[in-house]
Amino acid sequence: MKTTSPEELLIGAHTSAQGGAYNAVLQGQEIGATTVQLFTANQKRWEGKPITDEDALLFKEAVKASGIKKIMSHDSYLINLGSSNPESLEKSRTAFREEIKRCQKLDLAFLNFHPGAAVGSSEEECLERIVESVEQMADLAEKGETRLLFEATAGQGSAVGWRFEHLGYLVGRLHKKIPIGVCIDTCHIFAAGYDIRTKKGWDDTLGAFDKIVGLKHLYAFHINDSMKPFQSRRDRHAALGQGEIGWECFEVMMTHPFMREIPKYLETPVGPEGWKKEIALLRKLAK
Ligand SMILES: [Zn+2]
Ligand SMILES: [Zn+2]
Repeated sequence: MKTTSPEELLIGAHTSAQGGAYNAVLQGQEIGATTVQLFTANQKRWEGKPITDEDALLFKEAVKASGIKKIMSHDSYLINLGSSNPESLEKSRTAFREEIKRCQKLDLAFLNFHPGAAVGSSEEECLERIVESVEQMADLAEKGETRLLFEATAGQGSAVGWRFEHLGYLVGRLHKKIPIGVCIDTCHIFAAGYDIRTKKGWDDTLGAFDKIVGLKHLYAFHINDSMKPFQSRRDRHAALGQGEIGWECFEVMMTHPFMREIPKYLETPVGPEGWKKEIALLRKLAK
């Protein structure tokens, strides 16, 4: 396996695209990021503004000048591709198509999204609807480079995707039809019951993931500590080392030959100055 220098490892944060997508890249540069995650539209609204040619050009120029790579989008929180309500399912599918189009227009590497929530139906039915929803995007997928990534969830409420079995099922059904993969959020899987506080815990977790999903389908990490305890199934991010997970987890990730090479995005509640410090600390651990 190739070994990348700590400075070149892809580490970044969810930066602000307010005033234009290119601003997320500029903020990334300011904090020493080599990759970033952004919202391509208002994450709390159904209707996203389309990306204009000028927006896309400004963005691509900023990316080129910054050297930032493998940029990821996070989809709107309103989208539920597994919804049991036909109306909200339709709305979700339409909004997701628009999101894919925006990602393709910006040449983003990844579109990260929460698989869905069962709300009043079974997990199996929900997973089935998610498969159907994503299958419907296959025609679009050929038009760009963006890979769709299911985010591992904390299992809050009726959200699916908190068991590796859910992710394995989705990837298994879809990966031959559409470019797909998984993003592991450290806070989420810890809250969902995967103990990654130690090297031994990580080895067991990666072993399970490989068996159930397949490590070749793992494309990215969200790096967050957890305010809520192990197995709480609650999604509350904490600053690195200041939650229930602790530093050892991140130290293992930065020294592990496989994990250190995978792009990492911070979603910690610390803002740009805090991310700058966390990115520098993660790079230091990788030396
Ligand atoms: Zn996340
Ligand atoms: Zn979260």
